[in-house]
Amino acid sequence: MLESAQEAVGRALPKIRLEQYIGGEWYKGGGADRPVMSPSDGKLLAVVSDADADDLQRVVDAAAEGQRAWHLAGPGARAAALREAAARLRAHADELALIDALDSGNPITGMKFDVALGAMLMDYFAGVAAEAKGETIPQRDGKITYVTREPLGLVARLVAFNHPLLFAAAKMAAPLAAGNAVVVKPSEETPLSALRLAEIVGDIFPEGVFSVLTGGPELGAAICKCPAISAVSLIGSVPTGKAILKGGADTLKRTQLELGGKNALVICPDADVDAAIAGAVKGMNLGWTAGQSCGSTSRVLVHESLHDRVVDGIARAFDAVQLGDPTDDATEMGCLSTRGQYQKVLDYIELASSEGATIAAGGKPEGVSAEGFFVRPTLVTNVKPDMRIAREEVFGPVLSVLSWTDEVEMLDIVNGLDVGLTASVWTRDLDTAMRLTNRIQAGYVWVNDSSDHYLGAPFGGFKSSGHGREECLEELLAYTEQKTVTIVPTGTI
Ligand code: NAD
Repeated sequence: MLESAQEAVGRALPKIRLEQYIGGEWYKGGGADRPVMSPSDGKLLAVVSDADADDLQRVVDAAAEGQRAWHLAGPGARAAALREAAARLRAHADELALIDALDSGNPITGMKFDVALGAMLMDYFAGVAAEAKGETIPQRDGKITYVTREPLGLVARLVAFNHPLLFAAAKMAAPLAAGNAVVVKPSEETPLSALRLAEIVGDIFPEGVFSVLTGGPELGAAICKCPAISAVSLIGSVPTGKAILKGGADTLKRTQLELGGKNALVICPDADVDAAIAGAVKGMNLGWTAGQSCGSTSRVLVHESLHDRVVDGIARAFDAVQLGDPTDDATEMGCLSTRGQYQKVLDYIELASSEGATIAAGGKPEGVSAEGFFVRPTLVTNVKPDMRIAREEVFGPVLSVLSWTDEVEMLDIVNGLDVGLTASVWTRDLDTAMRLTNRIQAGYVWVNDSSDHYLGAPFGGFKSSGHGREECLEELLAYTEQKTVTIVPTGTI
């Protein structure tokens, strides 16, 4: 099937094993066939059969065999395996990035960065594997009380479509470093790089320890209900987060939820305006995921005194962005990853107009290819806080601008939503920076910066943007539980 994509882009694409990877073995999925389409030209890339209940049971059985040995192998052996996996990722970076560019529509340069980031996070969790450690408690009469951290068992990681390889690679790392078995479920929209990942790194891990199952929400729901799975972590939308909490309730699943946002970027009157404009454009992650980023700063709240300059600057920058073939190194921005995303983004642009906002740049599809889901970066102005375009996550290349004069009212708008993932503040004044970072309800706040994540710095949301933190030590510890042991001496001490 992949030959069609190969012809379409004129490049060599690796053969991908289109089956379920279960603890060291490959099985044709027992579920329905699912076509995987290229969003940049509408061509069929592959057909993958979804995993069914039997496949899930195989994962459980395999993990029951392998996980204990993996735990007993110790952090040194687990770290070595993860470092080997990171090295193999780097060695296969070009082909993995090409797969993601074809499958997700994200530009290949961004997807090469994702492979590097995935490898870096694997190395990070290799480095902290021995930090899943405990403590001793002072005792009397020579008794010893100590606390160890033990792995949970089998952990599932359900991930979104916007960074397919990065999420598959980076999210398996913490549970494995902590001694768990892990099953990764990529998005049904972008499953190919996770399957290739399994081919590339699978043999590094003992049988039963690492699995990849593909499928959609039904498979995700079955995973949530599965009693043998101890924890389910999601990178996905707020509604899916709620479904996971409900679906996992009967088996008391531990959960980590990294969900959506509608992130504010605040420009204060004393800001370096050119830097703030550049930060607002960068914060949209257009060249990485066409704005399909949970952390995208898609609500700009600019002080009235700078409004026109900022709007003009962002509009110019948006108009200059070159959309193109995601597999081309020169492409600055690719396309939306699915037909549903494409339609949703166009619908929100129409909604913004009908609500009375102004489309100041973009606002329409771009004809890079007849069947591709390309939409120009879109700037929406004259946005009022109660409009849906100001309140709902678009998850696409649509930036709304709101104007403010009073700081208290501005903070009410920033904090007036159910979500609170990231925020960005632009000011030259230390007191303003400290006051606003203190008052903004978001899990990650940049000052005079946007978009970038830093290794070891916790990433995660306030309110409905989720719970738990990732890319840091807390992520490792989330896949452990504490055991307290008291030992009483039987003789004289
Ligand atoms: P989604 O919630 O539709 O799907 C995410 C994953 O959950 C997929 O693997 C999907 O198959 C699975 N799933 C869907 N419904 C399910 C159900 N009822 N039960 C169990 N599993 C189910 O999200 P998406 O459209 O793939 O991604 C976009 C969303 O993800 C946005 O809201 C975005 O903000 C969020 N996101 C968050 C982060 C973060 O780190 N906070 C990062 C990336 C994306």
